[in-house]
Amino acid sequence: MKKKFVYFFSKTLTEGSKEMKNLLGGKGSGLAEMASIGLPVPAGFTITTEVCDLYYKNGRHYPAGLEKEVDENMRRLEKEVGKKFGDADDPLLVSVRSGAPLSMPGMMETILNLGLNDRSVAGLAAKTGNRRFALDAYRRFIMMYGSTAKGIDREEFNHAFEILKIQRTRRRLDLPVQVKVNDTDVNEAELEELVSEFKAIFKRNIGKDFPQDPREQLWGSVDAVFGSWMAEKAVTYRRVEKLKGVTGTAVNVQQMVFGNMGSKSGTGVCFTRDPNSGENVFYGDYLVNAQGEDVVAGIRTPIKLSEFEKADPASYRQLVDVRRILEKNFKDMQDMEFTVEEGRLYMLQCRTGKRSPAASFRIAVDMVAEKLIRREEAILRIKDKDIEGIFYPVIDPAQKEEMRKNFLVSGIDAVPGAASGRVVFNAKEAEAEAARGEKVILVRKETSPEDVGGMHAAQGILTATGGKTSHAAVVARGWGKCCIVGCENLNINYDKEEMSVGDVVVRKGDEITLNGSTGQVFLGSLRLIKPEPPASFKNLMGWVDQTRAIKVRTNADTPYDAAKAVELGAEGIGLCRTEHMFFDTEERRLAIQEMIVADTLEGRISALNKLLPYQKEDFKGIFKAMDGLPVTIRLIDPPLHEFVPHTEEKQRKLAEDIGVPYEKIRYRVEQLHEANPMLGHRGCRLTITYPEILDMQVRAIIEAACECASAGIKVLPEIMIPLTIDKKELQILEMRTRQVADAIIQQRNMKLKYMVGTMIEVPRAALLADQIAEVAEFFSFGTNDLTQMTMGISRDDAGKFLPDYVDEKKAGVFAEDPFQSLDQAGVGMLVRMGIEKGRRTKPDLKVGICGEHGGEAKSVEFCCRVGMNYVSCSPFRVPIARLAAAQAVIKDRLQAAPAKKIKKAKKAAPRKRQKPAKKARILKKKPARIQRKKAPARKSKAAKKAARIPRKTIRARKTKRK
Ligand code: PEP
Ligand code: MG
Repeated sequence: MKKKFVYFFSKTLTEGSKEMKNLLGGKGSGLAEMASIGLPVPAGFTITTEVCDLYYKNGRHYPAGLEKEVDENMRRLEKEVGKKFGDADDPLLVSVRSGAPLSMPGMMETILNLGLNDRSVAGLAAKTGNRRFALDAYRRFIMMYGSTAKGIDREEFNHAFEILKIQRTRRRLDLPVQVKVNDTDVNEAELEELVSEFKAIFKRNIGKDFPQDPREQLWGSVDAVFGSWMAEKAVTYRRVEKLKGVTGTAVNVQQMVFGNMGSKSGTGVCFTRDPNSGENVFYGDYLVNAQGEDVVAGIRTPIKLSEFEKADPASYRQLVDVRRILEKNFKDMQDMEFTVEEGRLYMLQCRTGKRSPAASFRIAVDMVAEKLIRREEAILRIKDKDIEGIFYPVIDPAQKEEMRKNFLVSGIDAVPGAASGRVVFNAKEAEAEAARGEKVILVRKETSPEDVGGMHAAQGILTATGGKTSHAAVVARGWGKCCIVGCENLNINYDKEEMSVGDVVVRKGDEITLNGSTGQVFLGSLRLIKPEPPASFKNLMGWVDQTRAIKVRTNADTPYDAAKAVELGAEGIGLCRTEHMFFDTEERRLAIQEMIVADTLEGRISALNKLLPYQKEDFKGIFKAMDGLPVTIRLIDPPLHEFVPHTEEKQRKLAEDIGVPYEKIRYRVEQLHEANPMLGHRGCRLTITYPEILDMQVRAIIEAACECASAGIKVLPEIMIPLTIDKKELQILEMRTRQVADAIIQQRNMKLKYMVGTMIEVPRAALLADQIAEVAEFFSFGTNDLTQMTMGISRDDAGKFLPDYVDEKKAGVFAEDPFQSLDQAGVGMLVRMGIEKGRRTKPDLKVGICGEHGGEAKSVEFCCRVGMNYVSCSPFRVPIARLAAAQAVIKDRLQAAPAKKIKKAKKAAPRKRQKPAKKARILKKKPARIQRKKAPARKSKAAKKAARIPRKTIRARKTKRK
């Protein structure tokens, strides 16, 4: 069957639907949907994303037949609106816009007023009786076409416009220099001059006159949109947002409506709910006498919707109706673009709105209460980054006085949270500074899509212009990044790299603090703290816990971390790395170093005896914090050389501290040196050589457990042996562990239950898991080491080259860094096999994971599917793991019930409108639904967010401790 490349939409015939987002892009499917439910959408057509894909696959050539289809649809459009494309007297003008399946705000190209030329501009002026408007539309078109389709620097046009405003408009109006000249102050004669100047700029740059043929203009613009898909800013955005698997953008060609026809016209962007708080209130910006790009670019600061209601109540009422209809139809918060043309409302876009993390929770929970969606859907809508964002910092309110003294200026609170850092005025510099580990705040007059890399790298964003729906606000909101816009009293001087408010000057490199929740900017760096999560977070996480089938534990080595994790929902400790405790104080460090350099058993035991009380106290603290919950304690793991000093100065100091000759220390350190310590004397290989370390650690665990139990604390200790490679090896250590433990329990006449298990971190252990399970009572997959050893890639050095493996533009071997998201095909196969073999021997074998993957959403879903009992992760990732575990259950349920889904999809079959739609005043009744095309399956949006890259050295781990 012949492929269809173009889909038409209008009030009488619509070929697409909201289910066709992959093919028509977000904008195209939204327009089709709105047209089909009778909303006032200017007619048009969408060239599919498939064309974009083919265009790049065929070396930037369009597929055969596309031109013919576009011509046919243009004729349809002319018929629908009763105007001719290229007509000199009453021209059909169109907009050409991009629209990918996933939202990329401001990333792609838009060209408005296409079809205008020297003849039709006169026709438009005569037809509308508004010559100023016609000229304004023409100058915009020349600029957009020139810069977007032909690559002329936009600044050249802006500069010419500024000169005209200063030299002609300001003089004519006799305005003082401090008063800004607005675009709307420029009159007809001046616009006429500007159009000539813009055409001259075009000719100077391109060497040809501005094209007068509308067909040439159309294809030039379509080329520009498809070309923009691979522009640096778009590629950067997809990289930053980790948008993979989207193959192209669609192109939407739509009849123009004009918000720049005078004071009864305008354009706006709004959200059906507050995208910051999630509150069910109408939220947005409106700009009188303007075209769409003016709002998003933040060129003028718009008015609030409440003011729009006062200025034009009739149009506002129509918009309120649209809000209600759209939410009911899409069952989610929508972001809408609209234009009012002389009192008539037109919808230009609707898409699922980007929202702050707090809003994600509130909207999901409220929509369940409003019976718009079910709990399962609410859970699936939350992303791991929403959870992270809930805990974004706020300014510590205890600093009231500092805030009062250091207040600089106020702007519009675009994205909540707080951030502090050094001021930079350039996005590239922000990226470079952040790469050096600096915290920066990006300050711009307004942001543009080119700035996206720097915006992402910055802690926060501050702009002098723009409203809550400006580019800066929309993009930052998507990331939950603190952002203040429309800070009109801020004067930014890019040349001097400074900004000022009155006589206060802030230079590049000075520190400032932003409060994105209030819009306030402060001088200096204020203390930030973590906020209390909102009620909706607790509500939704309650549903999550009712849904998930596996437990979530935490990796914690201190009572503080353990208690924090319990607050975040941890149900036990899955990994307590005991070696971290050796560095807590000077005495501990000396004792472990003394043990390592001792050359007799007695010497080692004497040093270990010094460590025993410290370890015991630590374990007691942890048992207390985890009262009633299981605690897995791992015996010593890293190679001993990590514990001793490596510089002469430090070695001499150690010699002095513990009273042994320096030469002895130096000799021992040399002796401990290993060519490849990661594959050397570490893990349980250490306790095979030095079983006295195991004795001390087991003693500390069991004595602590006995003492806690006597004090009424419920203890469930699980002793874990790391890096096992063989059943016999494990057996030796397990027996020794039980000997020590049982002797203490007997001696104290107690009844204490404990378990002895092992980590599965080496491929051999996974392969021989059936044998190992004869000894182990539980398995915990240490996927940091298991990934390292399965891949043969050092976890410490992978950062140097692994990014090339993930970068699609380079090798693109892996979709994600396997140290962050579990390599399910390779490492995952060993995990699956290990569990199956282990349970063949011991059907009730308890199995968990404690590598960093235990807190990464996709890996957690995998762990659920292979039948683990729990995942364990760092405290702050516990809620992410809880969510992912619940989402796994829901996704599996949905997969198991495809029949229902098929039924639903069948309902959405092709359509042709049966009744003509009522005119612009929004329908009170829902219109007869048009039959629709069968929808292609919606792409699942798996939760993504990388876990931290695990580090191996003790020093690196220690820095993470509180
Ligand atoms: C692992 O290897 O996955 C693990 C948890 O142990 P560590 O990171 O301490 O080596
Ligand atoms: Mg390990």
